Amino acid sequence: MTSSAASVVSARDLCLTYETNDGPVHALSNVDLDVKKGDFVSFIGPSGCGKTTFLRVIADLERKTSGDVTVNGMTPDEARKARAYGYVFQAPALYPWRTIEKNIALPLEIMGYAKAEQAKRIAQTLDLVNLTGFERKFPWQLSGGMQQRASIARALAFDADLLLMDEPFGALDEIVRDHLNEQLLKLWKRTNKTICFVTHSIPEAVYLSTKIVVMSPRPGRVTDIIESTLPLERPLGIRETPEFLEIAHRVREGLHAGHSYEE
Ligand code: ADP
Ligand code: MG
Repeated sequence: MTSSAASVVSARDLCLTYETNDGPVHALSNVDLDVKKGDFVSFIGPSGCGKTTFLRVIADLERKTSGDVTVNGMTPDEARKARAYGYVFQAPALYPWRTIEKNIALPLEIMGYAKAEQAKRIAQTLDLVNLTGFERKFPWQLSGGMQQRASIARALAFDADLLLMDEPFGALDEIVRDHLNEQLLKLWKRTNKTICFVTHSIPEAVYLSTKIVVMSPRPGRVTDIIESTLPLERPLGIRETPEFLEIAHRVREGLHAGHSYEE
């Protein structure tokens, strides 16, 4: 299929069912989606709608039950072996006994990069997330926002074109989150990465994305895919413009539509 060959992530009729003691949980049901190179795609939906599961399937941390999924035209297993993506988890997941630079170095050590190359990449990625000067600090010496930036640096260090981010700013206060959203957009533009970003904040999804995937639970499915009409240059003030509010409104409608069978 030519359309999926050009896609960074392509899902066709993708289903994933967890078998549990209480019976099957349909975490993903017939998901069709294409993420193109350079896209910033947000996945938004209430807790339990399959957002994390979708990222985990891309990252080969879960296996699909049926359907198709490719990452850079490969199976998730091949893509993982080819180091096709960096993964940023919901909690920063930094090792407390390692300094920031040693945390970033860890995947590079595992991949067998020479010391000099490690040092170069650490310096570059710390610069990208504005943490130059903090390489010798321990995670607990940094604020929550700085820790999350360090974990983004770690995901960037081996320079994969695809970045998977699972609610990276979910635990941070709104002011820090605004600032990191701005920084992430700049980083995305500077590095030409493709980003799949999970959130349950409507303003965050609308502010960041070129494409917004609205999901609903039980079973986890896609209820709307919105192509953003916002310009790529996005000062924070854009969030008060009619165009922004219109997209936010459509996201909200998509979320409500998924809840028409309210329990
Ligand atoms: P989200 O990230 O959108 O909150 P998840 O992808 O984590 O949703 O979960 C989707 C659904 O699958 C939920 O109902 C969740 O309880 C269930 N689930 C997730 N992981 C597992 C697992 N390992 N085993 C069984 N059920 C799971
Ligand atoms: Mg989740």
